[in-house]
Amino acid sequence: MSKKILIDLAKFRESAKNGCYNYGECTYDFHPNNIGMKDIVEQAMLRFACRRCEEAPCITVCPAEALERDEEGIIQRATNLCIGCQSCVAACPFGTLSNRIITAKKSICDLCDFNNDSNPLKCMKTAPEGAVIFTEQEANEAERIYALNDKVLVKEFIWDDFKRNE
Ligand code: SF4
Ligand code: SF4
Repeated sequence: MSKKILIDLAKFRESAKNGCYNYGECTYDFHPNNIGMKDIVEQAMLRFACRRCEEAPCITVCPAEALERDEEGIIQRATNLCIGCQSCVAACPFGTLSNRIITAKKSICDLCDFNNDSNPLKCMKTAPEGAVIFTEQEANEAERIYALNDKVLVKEFIWDDFKRNE
């Protein structure tokens, strides 16, 4: 079974201080201020927390035309266009977008050292306990674990779950 990393967004939320997440530190030698976990959390928010509004206010309000839907209907942010004005954060009626993440300067996660599970990644050691772990699990809706890509799983309450359980 292949190894993946599992990001638990609830653990990030629970440990936030004054609305700020501790994303942990990042091993990215050439850009010491890079925090790759922000990149993963942004992708997870847009894929799993965004309600995919039909007439999306975030897209409408963006002055730089930096937001668009991909072929799956997921909002994507073009960071080469984004000017970091955070109008989209203010416009989103569901609080999907965080002003801590939607910044013009984007961090990158390249899943470094991914194949070396005897040596946990720096983000695993410095993020809130249990928020970033290696796992051999697979996506499992019953446990609210979803695949972000072939290497990253995300544990999150999807808004659609609440709708289904009403
Ligand atoms: S922060 Fe970026 S994506 Fe959001 S509205 Fe401003 S330019 Fe557009
Ligand atoms: S306004 Fe918020 S919930 Fe609606 S599509 Fe944009 S990010 Fe998603």
